[in-house]
Amino acid sequence: MTSVFEYSKEELAELLIDEPRYRVEQLWHGLWNEALGIDEVTTIPKALRQRLGEQFVSALTVLNDVQSDRGATRKWVFALHDGATIETVLMTYEDRVTVCVSSQAGCAMGCTFCATGQAGFTRQLSVGEVVEQVMFAARAAGSRRLSNVVFMGMGEPLANYQVTVNALRHLHDYRGLSARHLTVSTVGVAPAIERLAREGLPLTLAVSLHAANDETRNELVPLNRRYPLERLREACEYWVSTTSRRLSFEWALIDGVNDTDQAIEELARYAYALGAHVNLIPLNPTPGYLVRGSPEQRVREFRDGLEASGINVTVRNTRGRSIDAACGQLASVTNAKRRSIPVRSN
Ligand code: SAH
Ligand code: SF4
Repeated sequence: MTSVFEYSKEELAELLIDEPRYRVEQLWHGLWNEALGIDEVTTIPKALRQRLGEQFVSALTVLNDVQSDRGATRKWVFALHDGATIETVLMTYEDRVTVCVSSQAGCAMGCTFCATGQAGFTRQLSVGEVVEQVMFAARAAGSRRLSNVVFMGMGEPLANYQVTVNALRHLHDYRGLSARHLTVSTVGVAPAIERLAREGLPLTLAVSLHAANDETRNELVPLNRRYPLERLREACEYWVSTTSRRLSFEWALIDGVNDTDQAIEELARYAYALGAHVNLIPLNPTPGYLVRGSPEQRVREFRDGLEASGINVTVRNTRGRSIDAACGQLASVTNAKRRSIPVRSN
């Protein structure tokens, strides 16, 4: 059950040892540069394609495919070979094409406001399963070249550390994506942030902060009890000093919870010291957490308050709200529908 995108060029060359060397180049180019499936790489003979087709299976089966924003946002729910489900989102902007990938089926971190967290952990993804999401999206993007990859789908990428790093290296080395256009979003696994800083990949790191006092953050993000804000700050400082890369904080604005004037002050202090950029997004309501996102007016005030304290802020638009684009939501809806389909037992 291996995906061909799991393989390095040397491993493929080993496999094709009886073929002329240029076959490896042709196959490699078709797969990685042109984002083709094995059977579409027509520069290599049919018999060889068939042989490879028997050896490698595609990791992803489409279960659901929905669009919003007049086609600019497209979201898929995929079944993996064992029936576990993940989601992938493609977002087309004027200046870039971004795919948001899952790193795990489910997530064990249990953030209270997050649909994936509410559903729990199923399993780790493999490198092939992560990379295939990107290649699938690259194919779907057609004539627009996929430029950015964000690890903001289901799962905590730093809790699947080696797979995440290997997938990033494959995308950088084989697909030629610039490291600056690769973003890892983490809930704040402090030691893993430090380890990632030492990988020598000038990535963009986003830390999902959501609260800058331990009491509130313990409620929203249970991992904060293990790595509280002070420990997280150390890891963030290490990231900035080791990589010289700017850091960003994600903050889902939740009505009456983390959108107060006090929250502005706490966040401003925390972010300023680290020179971090702040991305605000109004919370997308989920079935397991019945609190609203902050109203538009409050989102603006929150942004203005941060700006007045010298913080760089972006309000992220809620792409794909109508297709449940928040973390894990569409996959949970699709699963619920599948469960409700009667299964014939004969
Ligand atoms: N586990 C990683 C990456 C996946 S979550 C992390 O937590 O960073 C990607 C982003 O979606 C995170 O910033 C997360 O906090 C945010 N998110 C999760 N549920 C959300 C919701 N209901 N509304 C808005 N943002 C949400
Ligand atoms: Fe996991 Fe991220 Fe959701 Fe928290 S927000 S439960 S870390 S996917």
